Amino acid sequence: MQKLKTFSIGGVHPPENKLTDHMAIRDLPPPPQVAIPVSQHIGKPGQLQVERGTTVRVGTLLAKADGFISAAVHSSVSGTVKKIDSVIDSQGHRRQAVIIAVEGDEWEEGIDTSPELLEDISLDRGAIVTRIAEAGIVGAGGATFPTAVKFSIPEGRTIDTLIINGVECEPYLTADHRLMLENADELIVGTRLLMQAAGVARAFIGIESNKPDAIELLQERIRLKAGEGKIPEGFISVLALQQRYPQGGEKQLIQAATGREVPSGKLPLDVHCVVSNVSTTIAVYQAMQKNRPFVDRIVTVTGKALVAAGGGANLRVRIGTPLGAVIEAAGGVPDGTGKIIMGGPMTGRSVTSLEVPITKGSGGVIMIDRSEARRYAVGHCIRCSRCVGGCPMGLEPYLLEKLVQKERYEEAEALSIMDCIECGSCSYSCPANRPLLDWIRLGKGKVGELRRARMRGTT
Ligand code: SF4
Ligand code: SF4
Repeated sequence: MQKLKTFSIGGVHPPENKLTDHMAIRDLPPPPQVAIPVSQHIGKPGQLQVERGTTVRVGTLLAKADGFISAAVHSSVSGTVKKIDSVIDSQGHRRQAVIIAVEGDEWEEGIDTSPELLEDISLDRGAIVTRIAEAGIVGAGGATFPTAVKFSIPEGRTIDTLIINGVECEPYLTADHRLMLENADELIVGTRLLMQAAGVARAFIGIESNKPDAIELLQERIRLKAGEGKIPEGFISVLALQQRYPQGGEKQLIQAATGREVPSGKLPLDVHCVVSNVSTTIAVYQAMQKNRPFVDRIVTVTGKALVAAGGGANLRVRIGTPLGAVIEAAGGVPDGTGKIIMGGPMTGRSVTSLEVPITKGSGGVIMIDRSEARRYAVGHCIRCSRCVGGCPMGLEPYLLEKLVQKERYEEAEALSIMDCIECGSCSYSCPANRPLLDWIRLGKGKVGELRRARMRGTT
């Protein structure tokens, strides 16, 4: 049997706990009220286009992109803007948000909500990127970087490979897995559109080997389309990957798929690659073929006690829906829940309010039992170097933690703290339960401030 590909250094093998992978996607109806933040992406917040009393429909522009690295935000519901307020998001940041009282479910004219598959890929590169920007699409795998910016390939630079990220290596999460099974054809059309936008003739869809049904289905659909003459032979291939966390990190996925290493401080573009997540690619299909902006997303709601009690779900949720409504639709908070995490268990953050809105980057809600959530006592570092062995970026997490604690940020910068992809493998590996990722995140923020101050010439 052929050896499955993977990345070369570090990585861990947490229990996968894909408890909801057999649960088909269900639509969650709009809640009575949504809170839609104008910043759900990396970059500048969008510029507000509505005010109290404005009547909106699904797809109405609420905020337009402000500058190059920014993203448009649309209404996910129909109704009336109740107020412009601030809400706490899943990262704990206070964000300006449009609060809308929901009335009916009217969509903007021109948005096609039918399930019919459309395969028009006649648009040119520029038109595709413009449409992606208008639809407010951002990296839905959690990175939330504006997709139009990623695919605006600078003059003189070339891309030769597009990689679709269907890895979903975070334990518990199954949203992308379900999308690959239920929207395989849409994913293939989205991939072709992104290939056109990037100007490439080769794409891989990378999927870990724990999703054999998705691998088989996509291989079959691609073969069928090649047989029908809709795509050239070898144009898109499915790449089965070894199970290993964080296989879905951009740099790790590029290395597994192409053998190319993205150097420290460089981007996928520097090794002629571009990566797009499965949910993002399907959002591109919807924007291009259905004129549908980014107004909803698939959210996995899971947890051991929840699923054991017959709950759990993969839900299509309108952006801005409060967390509480999403959990309620999946069976409610089970007794004995110790914490609720938004995102995956390795990189997500625990939330303390059920009012936190679902945003474009929210792929999962995990209810962790009190017994699992019990905070183990933090011990002294025993210099075992397991965190070093687990780091896929070749960093020394124990040392970075120390430097950040001592506020020696320049030294942390020299030891490449900014290369950290925040995968959490170091914290997961640590027998002393040291919160390495928390310290490293803090350090990255401080180094970022230092760099900005240097650019301004104030340090
Ligand atoms: S230092 Fe960063 S990249 Fe390395 S294991 Fe820890 S979180 Fe992951
Ligand atoms: S894994 Fe934990 S105990 Fe071991 S070296 Fe790293 S920080 Fe220290």
